[in-house]
Formats: sequence, structure tokens, C-alpha cells
Amino acid sequence: MSNASQVLLERVRDIPDFPRPGVLFKDLNPLFADPDAFALVLGEVASGWEGTIDLVAGIEARGFVVGAALAQRMGVGFLPVRKAGKLPGETIDQTYDLEYGTATIEIPADACEGKRVLLVDDVLATGGTAAAAVSLLERAGATVVGIEFLLEVGFLEGRRLLEGHEVAVVATV
Ligand code: AMP
Repeated sequence: MSNASQVLLERVRDIPDFPRPGVLFKDLNPLFADPDAFALVLGEVASGWEGTIDLVAGIEARGFVVGAALAQRMGVGFLPVRKAGKLPGETIDQTYDLEYGTATIEIPADACEGKRVLLVDDVLATGGTAAAAVSLLERAGATVVGIEFLLEVGFLEGRRLLEGHEVAVVATV
């Protein structure tokens, strides 16, 4: 296990039954609150993609925290993948299935054509949100070079929905 994985795992807070009964929520706020630990983890992530991307896309909301910090560190731009109805101007959207019902995410229509993009989020659970974000970025003309998560919840097998793309994680539980 890398030093970054260990540091990250020591700063995950498990919250049972949040946001609903039966879910063990992985809270990464203790990592974000510790600048040295967060920098160590971001450094490991950045080293894996250095020189291969033009843009980091982060999924609302915790993917914004990880993605914007990572983009700055790597000297590339940041693109927010937002929940529907939040972005001004022309957008394209993607609707996907949740356990109960559906959700829709959006990006600006002209944000990433021809760009090499790294998609990031804090936690890989079922993979449904990330799979929808990949479709959205590809429809907008981007090449999704990879998908990076800080933490993977292994038993949910979210990678299955992301097959055909390079998926990297700092740690798996
Ligand atoms: P997914 O099921 O992979 O589509 O996850 C949807 C979103 O909810 C992602 O942005 C994850 O970061 C977040 N999420 C899902 N399950 C958890 C969990 N157990 N702990 C923390 N975040 C989660």
C-alpha cells in the first residue's frame, strides 16, 4: 500500500445509515481539512496523469474539491460537471438511473471539444454517476483519458460500468 493510500484511509470517516438506512457513507472531509495529507494524495494522483491531459472534470459536489485542487496542481483547466439547472448558457445533459428514480447532469456545450480529459470524483460507489459523466464528456467531443477516484467501495463493483476506460483509485475498501 502506498503512503498516500495509508494517509487517505486514516482520514476517512465512516457514517452508518447516511444519507439513508443501509448506506455506509465514506466522509473524506477529514482528508480535505488536513493540508499536508491532501497534498500528499493529490501529488500521487497528479503523478499518474502528468503530461497526458488538458483538463480535469470534477463531478458535483465533492469532485469539485478534488478536481479543482488537482487541476491547479497540474497546471490545467477545471470543468465542473453539474447537477441539472445550475449552469448558465448553452449546456448538454445526460440522464441516468439511480436506485430510486433518475438524475441529470450537465456541462457547458462548448467546454471540452478536442480536449484530453481526466474525470475525477471522491468516491466510486455504483459507478452510475461517473458512467453518465463519461458519456456526457464524449458527446461533447472530449477524449476521456482516465477516471480517478480517491476511494473505491469495492463490493459495489462500480468499475463494471466504466469498462473500456482507464480507472485509477488511491485506495479501495
Ligand atoms: P455512484 O453510486 O458511484 O454513482 O455514486 C454517486 C455519488 O455519490 C458519487 O459522487 C459518490 O461520491 C457518492 N457516493 C455514493 N456512495 C457513497 C458512499 N458510500 N460514501 C460516500 N459517497 C458516496
